[in-house]
Amino acid sequence: MSGPTPIYLDHAATTPLKAEVSDAIAAATVVGFANPSSPHAAGRRAKQILEEARERILAVLGASTSGGRRDRLVFTSGATEANRLALLGGAEGRPGLVVTSARDHFSVRSATADLGRRGWTVADLPLDARGASDGQALAAILARGSDGKRIVALTLVCSQTGIRDDVAAVAAAAGDRAVIHADATQAAAWEPLDFTASPFVTATLAPHKFGGPRGIGGLVIRGGTTLAPLTPGPQELGLRGGTEAVPLAAGFARAIELAAAERTETAARVAELRQRLEAGILAAAKAAGLEARVIGGAGPRAPHIATIAIADTDRQAVVMAADLAGVCLATGTACASGSSEPAAVLVALGIEERLRRGAFRASVGQGTTTGDVDEAVGRLGQVFRRLRI
Ligand code: PLP
Repeated sequence: MSGPTPIYLDHAATTPLKAEVSDAIAAATVVGFANPSSPHAAGRRAKQILEEARERILAVLGASTSGGRRDRLVFTSGATEANRLALLGGAEGRPGLVVTSARDHFSVRSATADLGRRGWTVADLPLDARGASDGQALAAILARGSDGKRIVALTLVCSQTGIRDDVAAVAAAAGDRAVIHADATQAAAWEPLDFTASPFVTATLAPHKFGGPRGIGGLVIRGGTTLAPLTPGPQELGLRGGTEAVPLAAGFARAIELAAAERTETAARVAELRQRLEAGILAAAKAAGLEARVIGGAGPRAPHIATIAIADTDRQAVVMAADLAGVCLATGTACASGSSEPAAVLVALGIEERLRRGAFRASVGQGTTTGDVDEAVGRLGQVFRRLRI
């Protein structure tokens, strides 16, 4: 492949595997190669590695790991499956009410749509001016009568914009009228989940968002919560059948421990890099005679994600031209990246069509340097000048 060395600004899609994590996976692949369900010594060793990984992850997440009502962690294939397990597996009994918003990832939106097809009422929660869930609107939705269970899907950090949600407002509105499922996928690297103190019954995460392996995710489940498996089988406490990915679980545990240990320093540095990138891109667009805006600039955001709209351009064209210039950007969340539909959250935020069409996502990560940001801004400046012609 020729051309400039790519600068990777798509850490919200996935992150490179950390060397320490790779080592942990390699070690567990050798020592824990056996099937953890096998009753012999090799199987018991694999089982031990799996269970130790589970306990280590629960400990980092501030979950309750002892006593009668211990929280549980079910390993899944990723965040998509964890969201589906929480929502579809949590939908026991007669059809109830599920609340979702445009902040939610496709995996949540499609699971709630499936519930709708099963007779559940699906309520679309409006966003407030910051792009967070509107607590008053949620209270009004939940005040309406409904016999069955009520589930609120909450995305801690929006994967398109990086805007954080207002957990306190959602929890206050939900009270004891609804249970809350949290999608912590984009948040887990940057903020402690503190699951025991949180108002969530379930929470989703995936280590490939913070230097861990792909192909594994997890659903944290509050003690006493009943879920039905999507894939029946004896493994994973009967909540997910199939032979467990022991080495990936060991990698997950290492990745989350590293993320937690490095969080304070990394979050501050990554936020500075993102701000530098945003300022540079805005200046480069202006110099090229283009109007640009950072989406969600005013509200609380995660450190790593910037969505920048260049007015009267096409996001696919911007991202393709950036790729040719050696800058890896995204049009939005990976599942929507090939789509010409505008991201639902940008519509919900009331962003005008001429800006929405040209909105792309840039996301920095732990390995990004100031030099990467400055070089990317320089390359994008050239892209913008060509877009103007
Ligand atoms: N939820 C959020 C908020 C995400 O950002 C993503 C991936 O980008 C997912 C869920 C799905 O994650 P996975 O690809 O691990 O299934």
